[in-house]
Amino acid sequence: MNAKKIGVLALQGAVSEHLVAIQKLGATPVSVKRPEQLEALDGLILPGGESTTMRRLMKRFGLFEPLRTFHQAGKGILGTCAGMVLAARETDSGEESLSLIDAKVIRNGFGRQKESFEAPLAIEGISGGPFQAVFIRAPYLEQLGKKPEVLARIDEKIVAARQENVLVAAFHPELTDDLRLLEYFIRECI
Ligand code: GLN
Repeated sequence: MNAKKIGVLALQGAVSEHLVAIQKLGATPVSVKRPEQLEALDGLILPGGESTTMRRLMKRFGLFEPLRTFHQAGKGILGTCAGMVLAARETDSGEESLSLIDAKVIRNGFGRQKESFEAPLAIEGISGGPFQAVFIRAPYLEQLGKKPEVLARIDEKIVAARQENVLVAAFHPELTDDLRLLEYFIRECI
């Protein structure tokens, strides 16, 4: 069997760590900057970083519609942190997003006093004990539609969810050695 090809949107943010993690899992990592690169892929990661900058670059490189088409074709998409902001149906600040998952996203939803923290997280569908999740100016989800499934919460805040082939996480799974979330994405969403 050919290895699955997984792209990482490489316009800004935590790109290289994802590329390394994909390789470790035996899939083929591809650094994606142009729409025509999407064709060869089985799945794509929208990484963490700064969603406003990433959105601007996505517009400039003509990636918005091709990414929606990629999703409609049933390909897998993982959005982490800023990537989750871009994947949501709507954002609390009214910026355009890709609407890949039927939920509203609250940017920087954990407030200033908790800009960055780690928490052991029980994630639905991931066995083997809690996942040590790294949150950096993290968003959370609310007002979910009927389709998304909640995979993890902190207090009442939804920090991981899945809608068919789209997986989103408010944290940075690529910043630890724990590859279980990415492994879940490759196994279940692609
Ligand atoms: N708060 C950032 C944003 O909205 C995301 C932070 C991150 O990806 N670590 O773009």
